[in-house]
Order: sequence, then structure tokens, then C-alpha cells
Amino acid sequence: MPRIEPATTPLTEPFWDATRNHQLSAQQCGACSSFVWYPRERCPKCLSDDLTWTNLAGEGTIYSFNIMRKPGNPMMADMVPYVIALVDLDEGIRMTTNIVNAEPESLECGQRVAVDWSVELEDGRRLPTFHPA
Ligand SMILES: [Zn+2]
Repeated sequence: MPRIEPATTPLTEPFWDATRNHQLSAQQCGACSSFVWYPRERCPKCLSDDLTWTNLAGEGTIYSFNIMRKPGNPMMADMVPYVIALVDLDEGIRMTTNIVNAEPESLECGQRVAVDWSVELEDGRRLPTFHPA
């Protein structure tokens, strides 16, 4: 059963286009320099609409994670166990993602991780996941 793929909107299209080149990106505010995640029309800290897509290093630490032993829906049945995680990127963004290419039991909160581009979507975009650094 194929994976349900995330939809692209005009707001998120730059993010998804960058994944085709294995580049993680987020909006950055031109007024207060904050990184903004998830994509928005205005900066949540200062309400400026001066947001520019900026490349990220793709490195961070696991804030929290859960090992999914039962699939969240039928299409995930052949993926269990899989890991859903909150990763704190070095730029200050907390991203919901999956940890891949790792033994789930070996993971720890605070562990360093790096972006992983091994999950390709049907239209050539990549799903940004993370693996132990
Ligand atoms: Zn701002």
C-alpha cells in the first residue's frame, strides 16, 4: 500500500522543491532573524511578513520520540516498528519527523541526529527524516 504523501501548497512549495535536491530549509524572518517552522504567512514572534526561505544544516538532537509498534494506519503496517520523533534542529526549530536507519531500542533523548533523504516520494520529492549522527 503506498504511503500517503504530503500535499504541497503555494506556501510550502519552496520547502518541498528544496527536498528534491536533498536540502532542508525553513523560513527566516527578515525583521527579527527568527527561524519559522512550520511554514506560515507571518513570523509568529514579530508578525512581520518578511519571510525568506533559508537553507538549514540538517543537524539536531532528539527532544522526544515514540516507537510505534502498531501502525497508525494500514499503509504503515509493513513499517512497524517505526519511530516518530521531535527533533530540535540547531537553528532552533522543533520538527516532527521519523528516525530511520537506526535500531529503535538504541535511541535516546538528547542524541545527535542528521537529516536523512532515503525516503523518496512518488513525485521525486524527499521526506526529510533523521538518522543518528
Ligand atoms: Zn520576526
